[in-house]
Amino acid sequence: APPVDAWDVERSDVTLDDVGGMDEVKARLRAAFLEPLRNPELRRLYGKSLRGGMLLYGPPGCGKTFLGRAVAGELGAQFVNIGLADVLDMYIGRSERNIQDVFRLARAHAPVVVFIDEVDALGQKRSAHGSSAMRTTVNQLLTELDGVESSNEGVFVIGATNQPWDIDPALRRPGRLDRTLLVVPPDESARASIFRYHLRARPVEGIDLGELARRTPDFSGADIQHVCETASEKALMASVQSGSPRMIQMGDLAAAIGEIRPSTRAW
Ligand code: ATP
Repeated sequence: APPVDAWDVERSDVTLDDVGGMDEVKARLRAAFLEPLRNPELRRLYGKSLRGGMLLYGPPGCGKTFLGRAVAGELGAQFVNIGLADVLDMYIGRSERNIQDVFRLARAHAPVVVFIDEVDALGQKRSAHGSSAMRTTVNQLLTELDGVESSNEGVFVIGATNQPWDIDPALRRPGRLDRTLLVVPPDESARASIFRYHLRARPVEGIDLGELARRTPDFSGADIQHVCETASEKALMASVQSGSPRMIQMGDLAAAIGEIRPSTRAW
């Protein structure tokens, strides 16, 4: 079983502006979370509660974790990133203790965003852990989400999954992961901004972001990051071979695009 310090508390310097595309998702996050928090008087005026968390769902690599980091960055909050599958343990009682530990750690670092990936791992359909043990584990998570034993003030929970249909329905009741946001593969303009983000700190010349976006249908954000890294590698190798550094050019990116298989086509 992973020890308590297996879970890192990170500072996040990502903001919503760094997230390419997703205008609707960002607008919903602002309305549900960010603005109510930033404007306590308005929150009271309109009787808006801060209870409840978010459930992000959609294909892998399209920015769910990145979005969680951006929410933390916007709030000036810490970020705790756990995969639910990692806290599950075959020994009786360990999974519950792990979940308790994660939330204890998080509360000690509030304000904090707790990002729980693979929340479907606790779905009723998966019974690898035996269904009664699984029930106890789910109940522990519900207790933590509800803040039954300790207050969840300043603890924002975001769950993520690629398989929303497997999620235990109890996790989605009001006050828990009660708001659902679909995170889809990036469209053309989102891809252009994802390219801009991943090239922003690299030496580039003659880059046409619109052209890159047009050439990358079905590429996820993670695929685009991979393209940018591969193109950097090509420019680096060319510089080593010629003995003088050269900028990353469209040719490097086009070659990288040709080598990388887009991963979102199945969705
Ligand atoms: P998984 O379901 O596999 O956990 P995910 O949806 O959480 O996937 P991320 O880990 O957030 O995907 O994305 C992988 C990487 O791709 C991020 O670290 C980020 O660099 C990049 N990326 C994805 N989407 C975007 C986006 N909209 N804007 C900028 N970068 C993005």
